[in-house]
Amino acid sequence: MQLLLVQRANSGLTIGDTHVYDEPFDFAVDENLCDHLRARAERILGWPLPPVVRRWAGVYAVATDNRLYFSQRIDPDVWLVTGPAGRGMTFAPAIAEETWEAVTT
Ligand SMILES: Cc1cc2nc3c(=O)[nH]c(=O)nc-3n(C[C@H](O)[C@H](O)[C@H](O)COP(=O)(O)OP(=O)(O)OC[C@H]3O[C@@H](n4cnc5c(N)ncnc54)[C@H](O)[C@@H]3O)c2cc1C
Repeated sequence: MQLLLVQRANSGLTIGDTHVYDEPFDFAVDENLCDHLRARAERILGWPLPPVVRRWAGVYAVATDNRLYFSQRIDPDVWLVTGPAGRGMTFAPAIAEETWEAVTT
């Protein structure tokens, strides 16, 4: 768990985030993790957090070696690009650029 705390323009708060790496992983979200995150944030802020309105939970793939993401030509016309872990949105433009270069050279 790492505590990220961001205030939004609507003065709402986004707090995060917890990860489970054990495999096979459960498809359900363990509420205890969210309670722990909330308790930690409330201890730091010194007041009770407002109710949770929206929650973002999901699964992402991670390259198991030290690559930032997994990219491989698996067929003459097929490239498999996956596994950027929790950085995929941030890395997407760079991954797209590298993939385009790999595919077109
Ligand atoms: C809760 C959470 C928080 C995150 N926070 C951040 C963050 O703060 N910053 C950041 O950079 N990244 C973050 N990430 C990670 C980021 O979302 C992923 O790294 C990124 O989405 C991976 O991109 P992708 O294209 O490889 O896979 P995905 O985004 O998972 O896209 C795969 C696509 O394939 C489609 N698909 C699946 N099966 C099939 C099929 N059989 N046929 C056709 N289509 C199919 C799916 O519908 C999906 O649209 C977070 C992820 C999660 C879950």
